[in-house]
Amino acid sequence: MPPFRTEAVVLRVQDFGERDRLVTLYSDEMGKFRGVAKGAKRSRRRFGANLDLLSLVRVHGFERPQRELLRIDGADLLEHVSNMREDLRSFAVCSYLAEWVEGCTALRQPLEGLLRLILDTLRRMTSDRGGGEELLRIFEIKTLQLAGYAPKLDACVACGGEIERKGGIPLDVGRGGILCRRCHRGNATGLRVSLGTLRVLEEARRIPMERTHRLGFSARSLEESRSVTRAFYIRHVGRPLRSSAFLDGVLRGGEDISARVSQIADRREE
Ligand SMILES: [Zn+2]
Repeated sequence: MPPFRTEAVVLRVQDFGERDRLVTLYSDEMGKFRGVAKGAKRSRRRFGANLDLLSLVRVHGFERPQRELLRIDGADLLEHVSNMREDLRSFAVCSYLAEWVEGCTALRQPLEGLLRLILDTLRRMTSDRGGGEELLRIFEIKTLQLAGYAPKLDACVACGGEIERKGGIPLDVGRGGILCRRCHRGNATGLRVSLGTLRVLEEARRIPMERTHRLGFSARSLEESRSVTRAFYIRHVGRPLRSSAFLDGVLRGGEDISARVSQIADRREE
């Protein structure tokens, strides 16, 4: 059995029998992978509290020929980015980002730069200055781009022609992008997005993360972008995000969310 050792973030932890845990992780070397953490329910020495969602860990163990599940022998904590045990907002953000990454990645297919993107987003979202919701939109469009799922927003997805850049621009999720007036004719359903939203999404996808603080999202662009990125997530992943309603409630504030917290926590254990 060939040994492995890699830096990874924790995407999901599930109980696995009496003593073990089934852990899903993402690393830039190995992509998304799953392994059985032997004795993890009891051994604080080898795993401690290191298997929190989106913790950065150095995991080691063995690959098992012809088997999808690896054997994970230990996880050393490198960075515990969020204080999600105390902070509801951090918990909601971590649940959402972890689910998003799990959906956008295929087993053992690394996406270049994804680990850094996850950590940058998380650090900024959970810092004292508290990055806002625009960071989530930037993260979403960038991960869709890395995974090859991003919408076409610079020309008509059907004919390649130019878009009339005024009013609400029709976006057809099934076809994968915006439509010109001719191709849109006779199909009055679907999303419409403003030119401002198209511009900011295009910029967000193109420029490096460290320059994205310059991007200005209006309230309308934030909302439209969220509809677009989530629609494309569902299109490619084939299911809606379980943690999105919880996150939206926390970010809006005010909602009675204590019940939902245990609900989400339970689901993540499934
Ligand atoms: Zn067209």
